[in-house]
Amino acid sequence: MTEAVGSTSLVRLENVNKHFGTLHVLKDIDLDIARGEVVVAIGPSGAGKSTLCRVINRLETIDSGTITFDGKSLAVEGRALAQLRSEVGMVFQSFNLFAHKTILENVTLGPIRVRKIARDQAEKRGMELLERVGIASQAQKYPAQLSGGQQQRVAIARALAMDPKMILFDEPTSALDPEMVQEVLDVMISLARDGMTMLVVTHEMGFARRAANRVVFMADGAVVEQNTPDEFFTNPGTDRARDFLSKIL
Ligand code: ADP
Ligand code: MG
Repeated sequence: MTEAVGSTSLVRLENVNKHFGTLHVLKDIDLDIARGEVVVAIGPSGAGKSTLCRVINRLETIDSGTITFDGKSLAVEGRALAQLRSEVGMVFQSFNLFAHKTILENVTLGPIRVRKIARDQAEKRGMELLERVGIASQAQKYPAQLSGGQQQRVAIARALAMDPKMILFDEPTSALDPEMVQEVLDVMISLARDGMTMLVVTHEMGFARRAANRVVFMADGAVVEQNTPDEFFTNPGTDRARDFLSKIL
C-alpha cells in the first residue's frame, strides 16, 4: 500500500456508455481515480475492462457521459487530443515493441518524435529507465532477442519515457511464461510505491493485495462493486464477485 494517495481526481468517468453496434459494453460507468492511486480492475472475460482502458486514452470514443483527465475533457480532437494521449501511458498484454528498433530506440522514439527531446538527452534518460527496469545491459539488442518478461519491462520503460501522468496496464502479464510474471509485477509494484497513478487490469491477486488501493470488479459492462483489496478478497459483497473469485483463486 502506498502512503499518501492524493485526494484530487486525475481521471473521472461520469455516466459513461459505450456500444459496439448493439452490444452495450460500458454501462453507466462512474469511476474516479485519484492522483497516486493504484486501481486494479478485475472481472470475467468480456466484462469491458479493455474497453475501459481504451476509452481513458481515447483509443475508443464514448457514446454518452463524460471523461475528464487532469481536469480537461477528453472530448477534444487534433493537437489537444494528441497532448492528452501523450500524458497517458499504456502497456498491453502483447508488448507491442517495434521489432526493427533496438531496445534503446524503442524507449527514445516517443520522446524524440513527440516531445522533441534532443537525441543524446533522450538516450541518457532512456538508459536510466532501462536501468530502472533492469534491462540496461540489453539496450542494443532487438526485441526478439529478449524474453517476454524483459520485453514487457522495456514496454514499461517506454511508457515511462513520456513522463505520463498515469499508466494503464491491460493484462500486462497474461502472455508471459509463469516464471517471468513476477519480474514484471516487481517493476509495477515499485512504480506504485513511487506514486505513479495506475489502472491495472489483472488477475494477479498478489499484486492487487500488495500494490492496489482499490479493486474494481466489473461484469457485463458495469462496475459491480469496488473496495479495498483486503475487503474485496475476504468479503466480496455480491454473488457475481464471489462466483468469479471462486474460479480464479
Ligand atoms: P474484457 O477486456 O473485460 O475481456 P473487452 O472490453 O475486451 O472486455 O470487451 C467487452 C465486449 O466488447 C466483449 O463482448 C467484446 O467482444 C466486445 N468488443 C470489444 N472490442 C470490440 C470491437 N472493436 N468491436 C466489437 N466488439 C468489441
Ligand atoms: Mg481485455
